[in-house]
Amino acid sequence: MHINQGRKFRYFSIRKTKTRAPPNVADEKKVLSLQQLSKRVEKLALNLNTNAMLEIKNLHASVEGKEILKGVNLTIGDGEVHVLMGPNGSGKSTLSHVLVGNPKYTVTEGSIIFNGKDLLELSPEDRSHEGIFMSFQAPIEIPGVSMTNFLRAAVNAKRKYFGEEPIAAGDFLKMLKEKRKLVGLDAHFMSRGVNEGFSGGERKRNEIFQMAVLEPKFSILDETDSGLDVDALRIVAEGFNLLRTPQTSAMVITHYQRMLDYLKPDFVHVLVNGQIVKEGDASLGYAIEEKGFDWIKEELK
Ligand code: ADP
Ligand code: MG
Repeated sequence: MHINQGRKFRYFSIRKTKTRAPPNVADEKKVLSLQQLSKRVEKLALNLNTNAMLEIKNLHASVEGKEILKGVNLTIGDGEVHVLMGPNGSGKSTLSHVLVGNPKYTVTEGSIIFNGKDLLELSPEDRSHEGIFMSFQAPIEIPGVSMTNFLRAAVNAKRKYFGEEPIAAGDFLKMLKEKRKLVGLDAHFMSRGVNEGFSGGERKRNEIFQMAVLEPKFSILDETDSGLDVDALRIVAEGFNLLRTPQTSAMVITHYQRMLDYLKPDFVHVLVNGQIVKEGDASLGYAIEEKGFDWIKEELK
């Protein structure tokens, strides 16, 4: 399910309070703090000049007062597919929610730069307009809002953000038809409420369909493959592959070897207890599929 829907999120970020110099500080100290300030500006400029699409640095985040992410570092370049694996409860979904700005999750430290912008300063809606898309682990129903109307609203909200006119009805319907075919979704789904009465497989296919319509720069697939039979998984993975371009990237959370076969990820990262503890290429994913996570935990001891 796309984040930019009916409900309006407001984003709150709690930052570490920066130590301020007391008002009666000596002149030398003022000079020092100016130097510190210029260092900070330099650092920020370096961050903004990076070629990476997404740069996550020392990210700490908590939910309901409990720290879940404990210093995540992750860089994703243009056109790359990264797979994120990890035991249940390690924080994979938390990282996804933090990236889209779900207000339940509080960032307490660290930074996220997306295409040169400070992501943590953007509202969830603006993150979506800037090109971040997330497919939820459990897509929800929005009864009473038809797929067509939902997607038209999303497409037009994005166009408005970039100062463009709403899409012409004919063009929109033509586009929907094209994209539906990518994931083999029947026309009759378009007049139904969003996910209303959709089977598990149809919901997951619908997620990729929405991705196709919204053309995000960066997609997060959080176990979009779970609960799918072999055919549905192939349709979802092939649909996803058709949407790949040299300018788009993705973070895919999965446990399945079959998904690795289809996606051929550039990198695999392993999240354990809120930190990325191991990184490699697709072979790391296959090793985990075969041996689980215990050997990685052992290495950490
Ligand atoms: P994963 O996706 O790797 O299985 P999660 O990010 O879903 O892990 O969860 C990490 C930890 O954060 C778990 O202990 C989970 O119970 C907790 N958690 C995640 N989301 C919430 C939430 N909305 N409310 C309370 N606890 C949460
Ligand atoms: Mg999860």
